[in-house]
Amino acid sequence: MTVIKAATALLPEGWAQDICVTIGVDGTITALEPAPPDIAVDILLPAPSNVHSHAFQRAMAGLTETRGPSGRDSFWTWRQLMFRFLDRLTPADVQAIAAQVQVEMLEAGYAACGEFHYLHHQPGGSPYANLAEMSHAICAAASDSGIGLTLLPVLYQQGGVDGRALGPGQIRFGNDPDRFLALREGAGRALSQLPDDAVLGTAPHSLRAVTAEALNSLAETTTGPFHMHLAEQVGEVEEIASAYGARPVEWLLDTCPPDRRWCLIHCTQMEPHETAALAQTGAVAGLCPITEASLGDGIFDGVRWLDSGGALAVGSDSNIRIALSEELRQLEYSQRLRDRGRAVLAAPGGSTGRRLYEAAATGGAQAMARKAGRIAPGQLADLVALDGSAADLTGRRGDALLDTWIFARDDRLVREVWAAGRHMVRGGRHVARDTVLAGYRACLARLAEAL
Ligand code: ZN
Repeated sequence: MTVIKAATALLPEGWAQDICVTIGVDGTITALEPAPPDIAVDILLPAPSNVHSHAFQRAMAGLTETRGPSGRDSFWTWRQLMFRFLDRLTPADVQAIAAQVQVEMLEAGYAACGEFHYLHHQPGGSPYANLAEMSHAICAAASDSGIGLTLLPVLYQQGGVDGRALGPGQIRFGNDPDRFLALREGAGRALSQLPDDAVLGTAPHSLRAVTAEALNSLAETTTGPFHMHLAEQVGEVEEIASAYGARPVEWLLDTCPPDRRWCLIHCTQMEPHETAALAQTGAVAGLCPITEASLGDGIFDGVRWLDSGGALAVGSDSNIRIALSEELRQLEYSQRLRDRGRAVLAAPGGSTGRRLYEAAATGGAQAMARKAGRIAPGQLADLVALDGSAADLTGRRGDALLDTWIFARDDRLVREVWAAGRHMVRGGRHVARDTVLAGYRACLARLAEAL
């Protein structure tokens, strides 16, 4: 049992002063009553989940910023380099990279990570002796980092919606639905080695990469979080429209309607009627504003989404930057640049930071099937504490604390982080930062030699 005393805390009913949070041995919040504290913090918030990560992509961050010979770089040229790069990765590499990514997520203020995991097989495409070898590597990383893991094994069946075979860069991802279900079962066994807050989900990669039949069958026969990329690229919208006779979101709403267990990643290319209808299903939009900006995807219609009552969450996707406050800032700034307005995602009269932060905390928990996102008894103790002594926070209270963190500062304000009660970041540093970083450096050195 641990008692945290917070000078100020964001509770479901609003800001409160001098709050004691008791964390039980099972990692949940058991009480908000006065008690002798074990640790005192300045500003205590629910720690959001990072709902969308491809951990391995972190190791190529910064390597795709050169313009290609054709004169116009795009998502598709980026993807070519990604395919070449991941041809080298071993399970040990994936563990080292994922552990580094998860340590950085915790240090940024995230308590949990949704790993959208599609790198399953050996180079050349043969399965490992243990079909779920790579899932074990991700789970081993989570064991090193202490992050709350929602593992989302990915079904990737085909190279395009016309059913074409996987390209050479995709053969490490491929499974038919039967082998995928066996792999998912193996991933479940790997997860059972982790603490009880670990969750197994399912991730059909995208409407391009799975058949309609497989998508429907997975939605019917699996339980738990259900994540899929949707409407990220204009090229993808065109491909689906010409094959299925409807835009991706229209087709999905008609054929395999999402509900609250779904998290749809990106949702960038939507018409207004699609945005409103998808928001009303209760599914979470898993937004990755930094990666979407990096890839030049386009701008999510956040204004219409929130006006339609949509739930949202954020993810670091390519992991080119892992920065919670920056992810929320980029989301808001993308809307401002498009609409030439300010405080665009705030409710009338309300704070932008508060609205975005609470939306990401509750929507993230929903997407990860974590009982979290609010500081209240019975919730997992996914908590982040900020440094209230930072100069820019002097004299600030309430929502101004969140607005200052998100729009004027960065994640160096993060001092303490608990993931389901595991106190993994102390004084701004992850407890295993040095060991994990050494492993990551060694991995990058090996990869640099091989590339
Ligand atoms: Zn993704």
